[in-house]
Amino acid sequence: MQDVSPPLSHRPPDGALWFLPLGGTGEFGINISLYGTAGKWLMVDCGVMIADDTTPGVEVILPDPTFIVERKADLVGLVLTHGHDDHIGAIEYLWPLLECPIYATPYTAALVRSKLSPHLQRQIKIQEIPPGGSFDLAPFACRYIPVTHSIPEAQMLVIETPQGRVLHTGDWRFDADPLIGSVSDEAALQALGDAGLLALVGNSTNATVSDASKPERSVLEGLIALFPQIKQRIILTCVSSQIARLHSVAAAARDCGRQVGLVGRSLWRNASVAASFGYLPEYESFLDEDEVRHLPQDRVVLVVTGSQAERRAALSRIATGSHPSVSLREGDTVLFSSRDNIPSRQAPLAALQNILCAKGVKVLTRRDVPIHVSGHPPQEDLRHLFSLTRPRLVLPVHGEARHQEAHAKLARDCGVGHTLVPKDGTILRLAPEPYEGIAEVPHGRWALDGKIMRPLNHAAAKDRRKMAESGAVVVTVVMDEKGRICDTPRLSLLGLVENGPNEESFSETLATIVQGAVDRMPKSARLDPVAVRHAVSLAVRRYVTETQGKKPVTDVHVVRV
Ligand SMILES: [Zn+2]
Ligand SMILES: [Zn+2]
Repeated sequence: MQDVSPPLSHRPPDGALWFLPLGGTGEFGINISLYGTAGKWLMVDCGVMIADDTTPGVEVILPDPTFIVERKADLVGLVLTHGHDDHIGAIEYLWPLLECPIYATPYTAALVRSKLSPHLQRQIKIQEIPPGGSFDLAPFACRYIPVTHSIPEAQMLVIETPQGRVLHTGDWRFDADPLIGSVSDEAALQALGDAGLLALVGNSTNATVSDASKPERSVLEGLIALFPQIKQRIILTCVSSQIARLHSVAAAARDCGRQVGLVGRSLWRNASVAASFGYLPEYESFLDEDEVRHLPQDRVVLVVTGSQAERRAALSRIATGSHPSVSLREGDTVLFSSRDNIPSRQAPLAALQNILCAKGVKVLTRRDVPIHVSGHPPQEDLRHLFSLTRPRLVLPVHGEARHQEAHAKLARDCGVGHTLVPKDGTILRLAPEPYEGIAEVPHGRWALDGKIMRPLNHAAAKDRRKMAESGAVVVTVVMDEKGRICDTPRLSLLGLVENGPNEESFSETLATIVQGAVDRMPKSARLDPVAVRHAVSLAVRRYVTETQGKKPVTDVHVVRV
């Protein structure tokens, strides 16, 4: 790969068109893409990812925006394709570093605002563009094309530059009757193909799935058939922004004489925004968790947050008995009206479903009954999109490597002349030819760690992960000015041995080992606190490794008296 960094400082020259994903390739979530031409950059989407058990204490993962923050004077704007968190969730954290104008449809804009603090709501100006609307962000001319997705007002983005036209698909699929939201505008896609499309930067989520999209109506019919068969309480979980699903649940509940209760803040937030746009007329009939408490079990359907087993969401708390107002009874039914193949969520989901089953709760997923359809395009939909738009070049994004590869192969099988599989942090040249990677720029993941944003592999996060795996030993050694230990070393053991007599005797043995390690040091070294810390740490780790098979994090304090 030719590195153009020192002379050009990664500045897209006149006459060139570059594509640079800073997140969203080789992974699900943190979608953030940049297009560059004539010295300017355009950003598309700015999303988060839910953290998993490999990052203890971290709730949210963000893309590392350093590259574009350093060039924010050349950033003409951030354009949003739709209101899912993997596309808008990082705005509240990263916008203060970017301070650029934002462009979104009115509904997506309302969802972004609903997540912002009052302070940021005043600061961030969102330019509202109607679905299908055009807007100029010179040197880029932009146009939305309405598409079907599992949220209203999803848009593909056409980016016109003097070097060629790009279609950034965002998330989409074909469904002739999506119940709520637009039908994908095939005429506009066909016209785009007729006008000539240089590149299609497309969603790879379902590129390994061979079917065509199933209609959202099949879920409505599935729920209408299923609800009357369930005698006790029904608890259904889905993504809280899935307004068409809420609409279907409300219709199926009404059909069998049940009322719908919503549990979870994000459900209420999304439902209320959708209702204010007229997307959810049933909103006024929804009950809160206190109102449903007095209803008979067979008269209610509870829709709850937490379909990906998020630790703090309602369903996990209900399942573990820690929810303040909803509890489960044997014979209740929990329906997962949601995706179950996000790699990092599979283990937490299985654990949650095991807890439910152990309580005698019946668990049904999309594998048992037709209660979920994906919002992303499987192979038949992708083929149809290629035939409408006829791009010269396809760049698969929004997926792991295997999804991107499957998407690229499918494009080639459909006669697309060129494919390039993008990688986070690699600038790809879309014009002039040849299409190729030309440089790698700083990229990676940040974590929202409590209230602090920092690189995911920051030393503090690494220490915490190590402590979670191997425990910790804190040692305090008190020494006099001649380098002699004055008192028995004090030890705290965290996560290594059971409390009680075992811990005491283990601690005593370790204190003797610490004493011995210091005694064996040459006198001059004992006067050097760094050398003492090193020797004590080594001895402690060696003993704990021999006896426990663990290499704990050690912290040694040397106190001089
Ligand atoms: Zn989406
Ligand atoms: Zn997405």
